[in-house]
Amino acid sequence: MSRQIIVAENAGFCFGVKRAVDMTVEYNNKNNTRVYTLGPLIHNQDVVKSLEEQGVFPIKGEELSKLQPGDTIIIRSHGVTPEIIERLKQTGAKVVDATCPYVSSIQRKARKYYEEGYQIVIVGDPDHPEVIGINGWCNNTALVTKDGSELNNLHEKVCVLSQTTEKISNFEKTLDRVSRLAGDVVSFNTICSATSERQSSADEVSRIVDLMIVIGGKHSSNTKKLYEICSENCSNTLLIENAKELTDDVIIDSRLKRIGVTAGASTPDWVIEEVINKLKSDNK
Ligand code: SF4
Repeated sequence: MSRQIIVAENAGFCFGVKRAVDMTVEYNNKNNTRVYTLGPLIHNQDVVKSLEEQGVFPIKGEELSKLQPGDTIIIRSHGVTPEIIERLKQTGAKVVDATCPYVSSIQRKARKYYEEGYQIVIVGDPDHPEVIGINGWCNNTALVTKDGSELNNLHEKVCVLSQTTEKISNFEKTLDRVSRLAGDVVSFNTICSATSERQSSADEVSRIVDLMIVIGGKHSSNTKKLYEICSENCSNTLLIENAKELTDDVIIDSRLKRIGVTAGASTPDWVIEEVINKLKSDNK
């Protein structure tokens, strides 16, 4: 059976997640300390388990008293508030900051414009760790909105920022509303292109294949979005977490001449490679 496997560009880890995982592994290999991550480093069970096997364990915010001087604590790519950084330092543990540089840049903007007297508006999900972290950099005074529709009575000076994974249409709607309500508006489209690039390459590949496979966590919002996009183009789209979920009927189906593969932002290369190898295993 001859079969073509097309892997979408930008599948899997984005720059910020890869950087956080690499920093953690490298730090753990070079240092003989106990290493913890503040919460699971990424939303992928395989990766968290693999890190645990290497001796890196997630710790919850309410468990910080477990940290001892000499331990190491890693801040995830989502970033945290300055108060959390201070609390981590007070434990005596070494703090390694793996906040994605794109997120750090938003945090700096939030602080700068807050200090200059601007009211900060963040377009995003108020419960998302990245948004909670950014809000901390303006003293937790930000208004967090989905699309600006509920905003009223804003200050005269407003600075609009965005969660990195937000939709551009929500940012634009918010900016439009804020511009009508405030006199001095500064805005930064801080949406990260990693998400849209991953989505557009998955969109392209899923149009030309007999089967599209999306690899990622079933609860990961960016993976679910990839699945939706691919399903619109290819009715034969599967969402799997890893190669173990790939069934034999798919592997041996000779009608599947072209198979596309993409993966969510928290899926490491080795999980993608295992899926590709399994697809090739009966490709004789
Ligand atoms: S999606 Fe963008 S901002 Fe978020 S971690 Fe990845 S590279 Fe950084």
